[in-house]
Amino acid sequence: MMMNLTFEASSEFAARLDGDDPLGPLRSEFYIPRSPTRRDAIYFTGNSLGLQPKRTRAYIGEELDDWARLGVEGHLHARHPWLPYHEFVTEPLARVVGAKPIEVVAMNSLTTDLHLLMVSFYRPTSDRFKIVIEKGAFPSDQYAVESQLRFHGYHPSTALIELAPRDGESTLGTDDILDAMDRDGDSVALVMLGGVNYYTGQAFDIRRITEAGHRKGCIVGFDLAHAAGNLKLELHDAGVDFAAWCSYKYLNAGPGAIAGIFVHEKHARSFDLPRFAGWWGHDKATRFLMGPDFVPLPGAEGWQLSNPPIFQLAALRASLELFDKAGMEALRTKSELLTGYLAFLLTQIETDRISVITPSDPAERGCQLSIRVRNADKSLFAEITEKGVIADWREPDVIRVAPVPLYNSFTDVFGFYEILSECLT
Ligand SMILES: *Cc1c(COP(=O)(O)O)cnc(C)c1O
Repeated sequence: MMMNLTFEASSEFAARLDGDDPLGPLRSEFYIPRSPTRRDAIYFTGNSLGLQPKRTRAYIGEELDDWARLGVEGHLHARHPWLPYHEFVTEPLARVVGAKPIEVVAMNSLTTDLHLLMVSFYRPTSDRFKIVIEKGAFPSDQYAVESQLRFHGYHPSTALIELAPRDGESTLGTDDILDAMDRDGDSVALVMLGGVNYYTGQAFDIRRITEAGHRKGCIVGFDLAHAAGNLKLELHDAGVDFAAWCSYKYLNAGPGAIAGIFVHEKHARSFDLPRFAGWWGHDKATRFLMGPDFVPLPGAEGWQLSNPPIFQLAALRASLELFDKAGMEALRTKSELLTGYLAFLLTQIETDRISVITPSDPAERGCQLSIRVRNADKSLFAEITEKGVIADWREPDVIRVAPVPLYNSFTDVFGFYEILSECLT
């Protein structure tokens, strides 16, 4: 891939970048939504719902067929037996988030998983009971954290620390996060931040935040909804205690897809941690003896409750194969170029109606750019939608656009620029 190149605002240049893109062929693995005004829509909403891999239908179909053919025997005799089915996604999932296989499992949905993990990892004491989050965190995270505080008898007004950007700034400085930890860390039980903020697109420095939290004796967890499949994560090496993510955004496993969790290896055998238990977290060797005593599996698997939804795992398996084809390293390399090109093109539009609030340093963002619209003028969003862009509007005044390196092209980025310029100038 070309590096240190000088960008140009032309369709020929965009086509040249596509021609040189080793991941370009992966676009044909996906269904690209149509648009009334152009053949393919410019789909920049993979941060909200990733596109459908063409192979997903066959993968789910295989399980439907085996169910029809075998009934309950499919648990052992399906082509991909259902009993160990979740294990088929463990290694690819571990590669996506930079973990060891024992540290990850696909289960439940994201908010459910955050609660289950907080049951184990939010252990307040009388002098260490606070939780640190971002101000303006995704509402579900805010609700989950506040309800955990109340469940333990604390009130958010005294037990919740919400980190806010400095006055006049849109994103949190890493140094400000670290300072807050130094200042208040002794009373903090749990730090739980997003890997990438859903609104601003800011990527947090997971390693430094984790280190700073640990220096103060805090547990550090991350919500990776906007980071899994987007950033090159190294959860194991960063020493993160736990994490969870959904699989319908960058991981392309379909609406409401099965989520994933990470529990660091250092906790793999912490069987004294309180946890909510279910039979699928029980030792596999003796699970079907159906005994009364819960014996948890080591590692992330020990947090499972139920036997998992096979159709959803099939969809996740289909999608993770494409991640393995690409590799996170190459995806991230393309992503920096793709979003870098978009950022460049936005600077070429002469207007004061928009500004990008996402950090300009590629190390501090994933693929998404958040474009703030002056006067919260939503008509701009309506216009680009009309012209074939699928992006999203987030109240009060932001259009989020996420060129996804698995299936978006440089030509998509250029097309978006043309449409936006037309609407703005
Ligand atoms: C998308 C998203 C969610 C959604 O939660 P679900 O339980 O999957 O509905 C939660 N938190 C964050 C940060 C998100 O980006």
